Amino acid sequence: MQNAEPVWSIVDAKGEEFCALSDRVWGMPELGFQETRSAAEHAAMLKREGFRVTTGIAGIPTAVVGEAGEGGPVIAILGEFDALPGLSQEAGVAEHRPTEPNGSGHACGHNLLGAGAMLAAAAVKDWLAANGIKGRVRYYGCPAEENGAGKLFMVREGAFEDVDIALSWHPAPFTAVSRPVSLANVSMDFAFSGRASHAAAAPHLGRSALDAVELMNVGVNYMREHMPSDARIHYATLDAGGVAPNVVQAKARVRYIIRARELVELHPLIARVKKIAEGAALMTETTVTSKVLGGMSNLLGNKPLEQALYDNLQRLGPPQFDDADRKFAARIQATLREDDIVSAHRRFGLPVKKGAVLADVIPPLDAPAAPMMGSTDVGDVSWVVPTAQIRGATHAIGTPGHSWQITAQGKLPAAHKGMVHAAKVLAATAVEVLSDPALMAKAKADFHERTRDNP
Ligand SMILES: [Zn+2]
Repeated sequence: MQNAEPVWSIVDAKGEEFCALSDRVWGMPELGFQETRSAAEHAAMLKREGFRVTTGIAGIPTAVVGEAGEGGPVIAILGEFDALPGLSQEAGVAEHRPTEPNGSGHACGHNLLGAGAMLAAAAVKDWLAANGIKGRVRYYGCPAEENGAGKLFMVREGAFEDVDIALSWHPAPFTAVSRPVSLANVSMDFAFSGRASHAAAAPHLGRSALDAVELMNVGVNYMREHMPSDARIHYATLDAGGVAPNVVQAKARVRYIIRARELVELHPLIARVKKIAEGAALMTETTVTSKVLGGMSNLLGNKPLEQALYDNLQRLGPPQFDDADRKFAARIQATLREDDIVSAHRRFGLPVKKGAVLADVIPPLDAPAAPMMGSTDVGDVSWVVPTAQIRGATHAIGTPGHSWQITAQGKLPAAHKGMVHAAKVLAATAVEVLSDPALMAKAKADFHERTRDNP
């Protein structure tokens, strides 16, 4: 692909500034929907780069979009910048050392994700301008991936309506094309109310909401045997009603997350969990109300786009880490268990390589990778636009997701290299789609095929 080299030079030339953006966002970890400073940094960078900037997308103050180019197809590159609670950590040290007790930290690497995605968009912008090509590139700064599914609201508001192709990436231990597998999920609260009474003097007058929560959990645990094997259900008691055992608890509340491989499998599961809640209320003579807090769709893959990403990855080769990068990664690995390292290889379908600390291989497109059983709000975008993603190697192999070790590695030279590398793959694939109408058509045909019977 003759356009890859020129766009890679643009990425290289801009790399340092975007690594600095990533570092600034790392230094101001903010939780979902509260990413005011991080979103402002992203908006300012977009303006400096000459993008046309819109903020407050879908009524979310921290959602920001930058567009460049004129006419033609629209390529979206998706970024994020939210942090996680309780994962504050000093950078560049291989021991758990929070910078602030209970503070937030970039333990999923979204500082890199956002800056790297914008770097790719900025390079595509310059490439379009330099070649006088009709087409637009948009950077989508999407809030609250971790706890709020920001993209879902942006999709619902039509923010992707005129987009032809969407690309994204996520920091990881290996650089690879992402498996288009994630679970659709919904998060719901069930609130029971009963009648308080003295648990010893008048137990017959009380109706326990806490009993209802316990019975509901038992019911759902029995249901597990009779649901699809890749569905997942988790719960947490938000309110046990009180702290006094000698009171019949008049109210109690439990939060459920229900996940399934496909949206069409998720809806019947939700209905069954609701029936169990009603059954628990019936058994305890309490009442129950439920409230949906949020949800995400499963990811739809896109073969032609995944192949294009893979071809560009192959052309570029794995990120070039040096001995200093490997030395620090080895110190991080010393804080992990052997299991973590083995499972990281398995997730990418790679044989376990003894002594490997940072990725130096690209897993084949058909590597027997274990599917990702989590969820992502990129899934919602993938149902309205042909979407594909890569993982970019930015941390030691085996580093668990959402751990202090990811925060610790978030602004090291290795993380910067992995981020710039990922930006090159995204930028090269975006310019390929923009200059090859046949590829664009194939990606769209694949999308229509997947959504035809199941829109
Ligand atoms: Zn993440």
